[in-house]
Amino acid sequence: MQLEKIIQKLKEKGCKITPQRRAVIQSLLNFSKFPTALEVFNDIKATNPDVGLDTIYRNLNLLVEIGIVNSINLPGKDVKVFELSIDGHHHHLVCLNCGQADCLDYCPIDEQGLQTAAGSEFQITGHSLEIYGYCHKCKSALK
Ligand SMILES: [Zn+2]
Ligand SMILES: [Zn+2]
Ligand SMILES: [Zn+2]
Repeated sequence: MQLEKIIQKLKEKGCKITPQRRAVIQSLLNFSKFPTALEVFNDIKATNPDVGLDTIYRNLNLLVEIGIVNSINLPGKDVKVFELSIDGHHHHLVCLNCGQADCLDYCPIDEQGLQTAAGSEFQITGHSLEIYGYCHKCKSALK
């Protein structure tokens, strides 16, 4: 009942659940990898032929703003992938070769060190971090 749990969370945040939003979340749950907006669009289009790519972008961005979806930049690919993020912020290991993104299960950022670096004038409300490199599969293939 992942979907219902997420819908519940959206409602708690005072967010209206439109059929498109529901479809976007359901679609994100369908993928075993992190999809691009276009892949989400194609997935939803299969069952909702009337949906537009703009609508998908708008809804994805809105879900990112609410904090229920993460967008991950893939370096050098000029494309973002999306993942559901129900349990707050975390970081990713992004493969420069195949674009695969893996979630880190803890935050390696030292919040206090960050505040020192930012200076006392700046109030930190959040951060994002993506770690680039080569995944296990690509590392062996590149040898
Ligand atoms: Zn890779
Ligand atoms: Zn993640
Ligand atoms: Zn963090």
